[in-house]
Amino acid sequence: LVSADGSLHPTIFAEMSALAARTGAINLGQGFPDEDGPAEVLEAARAAISGGMNQYPPGRGIPDLLSAVSEHQRRFYGLALDPAAEVLVTAGATEALAATLLALVDGPDDEVVVFEPYYDSYAAVVALAGARLVTVPLRWPDFQPDLDDLRRAVSDRTRVILVNDPHNPTGAVFTAEVRDEVVRLAERHDALIVTDEVYEHLVFDGPHVPIATLPGAYERTLTISSGGKTFSTTGWKIGWVTGPADLISAVLAVKQFLTYVNGSAFQPAIAVGVRLGDEFFRGIARDLRDKRDVLGAGLRAAGFEVSVPAGSYFTVADARVLGATDAAEFCRELPERAGVVAIPLTAFATPEHRSDYATLVRFAACKRVEVLEEAASRLAVLR
Ligand code: PMP
Ligand code: GLN
Repeated sequence: LVSADGSLHPTIFAEMSALAARTGAINLGQGFPDEDGPAEVLEAARAAISGGMNQYPPGRGIPDLLSAVSEHQRRFYGLALDPAAEVLVTAGATEALAATLLALVDGPDDEVVVFEPYYDSYAAVVALAGARLVTVPLRWPDFQPDLDDLRRAVSDRTRVILVNDPHNPTGAVFTAEVRDEVVRLAERHDALIVTDEVYEHLVFDGPHVPIATLPGAYERTLTISSGGKTFSTTGWKIGWVTGPADLISAVLAVKQFLTYVNGSAFQPAIAVGVRLGDEFFRGIARDLRDKRDVLGAGLRAAGFEVSVPAGSYFTVADARVLGATDAAEFCRELPERAGVVAIPLTAFATPEHRSDYATLVRFAACKRVEVLEEAASRLAVLR
């Protein structure tokens, strides 16, 4: 009943979080924080519910959140967006990705270029859209794409170049050369750019540079973000897409038949978050950078080789030095051996390329420091 190529298999996040629940292991698999976000944001959701914001909101999103996102794009990136036409609220970045790709690509002659490993929903929505996935490899340990690989992947068949920066699962932040080349290739082959920037505020040596701010990019780029990571509200599923009015209208045309609308009481709360002061945004990046360092030191002490991420929730470690030959098997056994759950990078690769990531494992750093330290001390048994 589901796609023959296996792209709609049960997601690795459900499998690994269930494994953590079953074994009582520390869950450094699925990326969600173990602490609440800003009190003002939580309070605003309670107030919205008490204030009666409990029915269908407008299809594009409530005007207050559309304005808040538009102000945010101006404040952080100098982009001037019309909140009524160039912003669309979605059920998280997940729906934004699905609606965007379903709107922009049309069948097997359209190719979507992605960097591999990729967030798992990318391959699934490309399959749902009936398009062809073309991958550009990111290689251990810095996970920057080779520009020649990128040039070989993009052609006149390319409808969309799908970027994720900062990148899940590797934590890479792409260099200016990579971003520039994406725009140049999109212009040359008349492709669109879809850029998933859900970790935009979790860049450790900022500032974050959205592709949409590069010369020539805005008119062919849809930018996706979400309140989940920035405000530690991953369960609220409030995301957004920004870009030129005609492309946003196309995404809205699909979104209305996926969820119609979403999260009436959470939208005003995320608007409060998006308008928080600079100290909040600097603080979350600093805090996660400290956690990255605690996790990285713990993994090194346990004997892993560790890549140093420049952003996102995640750190990739190589378990080869610990004798691993199959990351999926290593992760299945890890709760039993060490009481920790992590995710094999093979879950983020196409079947033909899984062997390139055979010993790499993703750990989430978005947990309390004492939890990361406890995980590190448990992992020490692997040495
Ligand atoms: N894109 C990336 C790169 C992610 O890591 C995630 C998940 N956390 C999403 C999209 C989905 O975001 P949301 O929870 O807002 O749907
Ligand atoms: N984005 C988070 C991760 O990569 C969670 C994703 C999910 O549960 N679908 O871990």
